[in-house]
Amino acid sequence: MTDFTMAPDTVALARRVRDFVIDKIIPFEKDPRLTQHGPTDGLRDELVALARAEGLLTPQAPVALGGMGFDHATQAAVFEAAGWSTLGPVAMNCAAPDEGNMYLLGRIARPDQVEQFLRPMVAGDRRSVFAMTEPGGAGSDPSQLQTTAVFNGNDYEISGLKWLITGANGARTWIIMARVPENPHGPSGPTLFLCEGDTPGIHIERVMDSMDRNYVEGHAVVRFEGLRLGPTQVLGEVGSALRYAQMRLAPARLTHCMRWLGAAARAQHIALEHARVRTAFGKPLVEHQGVNFMLADNEIAMHQCRLAIRHTAWLLDQDVRARHESSIVKAFVSEELFKVADRCVQILGGIGVTGETVVEMIFRDMRGFRLYDGPTEVHKFAIATQLLRTGTAFAEPT
Ligand SMILES: Cc1cc2nc3c(=O)[nH]c(=O)nc-3n(C[C@H](O)[C@H](O)[C@H](O)COP(=O)(O)OP(=O)(O)OC[C@H]3O[C@@H](n4cnc5c(N)ncnc54)[C@H](O)[C@@H]3O)c2cc1C
Repeated sequence: MTDFTMAPDTVALARRVRDFVIDKIIPFEKDPRLTQHGPTDGLRDELVALARAEGLLTPQAPVALGGMGFDHATQAAVFEAAGWSTLGPVAMNCAAPDEGNMYLLGRIARPDQVEQFLRPMVAGDRRSVFAMTEPGGAGSDPSQLQTTAVFNGNDYEISGLKWLITGANGARTWIIMARVPENPHGPSGPTLFLCEGDTPGIHIERVMDSMDRNYVEGHAVVRFEGLRLGPTQVLGEVGSALRYAQMRLAPARLTHCMRWLGAAARAQHIALEHARVRTAFGKPLVEHQGVNFMLADNEIAMHQCRLAIRHTAWLLDQDVRARHESSIVKAFVSEELFKVADRCVQILGGIGVTGETVVEMIFRDMRGFRLYDGPTEVHKFAIATQLLRTGTAFAEPT
């Protein structure tokens, strides 16, 4: 039997999160520290302090590390409620890339690495980066990785150029993907390294101008030159970076879907309120079928997204890898929610493209969602490959 009941505790928690976001976080959406390069660290610190005071910090991390320890199903409700403002996940320390990085570190970091890097992240005291994408190398296809980590028997010298590195400016926990070339001293292959952000040899060249501004400190171009890391700064095993990236991505894709569903629901709420009061041709917009069909299409899309998210969350909670399911849900939800945001802009008319409402920011912020953690086409490619190979797009029985 399929049971869609949500536990009363979860419903109450989601309501508490939504109230917190409305009362305490939304007022900061007009704060000048929400810049074209995202919220500044100063704004983030203030928001995190508010969530901490409310007992709502880091809902996804294990209780043993200081988090709230929620499973993926509960996270679905909590993250959606947090996403009502794009600043909500920042406040609650469950925004990208930190949320995915915390998940990965929780799975593969050594105990000493957990204490140095992960525990302070769970406490909201430091941010992190995941540095993979390169101008001419790793992107949709991470196997094109160009950054090298040459091992001389004592340490690794890391050289390369990365871009689109979210939150690089000011982040203290760095996860860097680099290729260890064949060498006589040990194993080789794509490898993750874990180090402090102030390690000499990490050069932030510039923060890129982008159409979104929901990620703390924006997205940077980063050069690694003269960066020397010891063998103890390898994260996990040498040669396993691509496997770890996949391990990180299945849940990370899903949490993006959860947060953006909350943002889409906010846009819909604003569009609906506008359509009730704004009149055209003798009646409120909402009484024009062309408008209320758009609102209905939004409800239909968001309902499908919510169900798809919950299904994959349920799989993850049973320790299923859900790699293909998370591809399906990410491709579907990112495309559908962007259409929802677009219809909300349309219903608002001219003000939809202005800063009079937050819908304009949601629309722009959401655009990147169709690209990061796998562009839609790459997910479709993976889904089709799985389908052709096994006769089903699903890895697990549905
Ligand atoms: C807002 C934002 C934040 C990001 N943050 C980070 C970060 O913190 N760290 C990090 O390392 N990276 C980050 N990225 C980079 C992101 O992971 C890459 O943009 C993504 O992996 C795509 O790589 P690419 O940009 O190099 O595009 P490319 O690999 O050049 O692909 C371009 C386009 O080609 C098409 N394409 C590619 N492969 C296929 C295929 N198999 N079939 C059909 N079409 C295909 C797709 O349409 C794709 O959009 C971020 C990106 C954005 C937009």
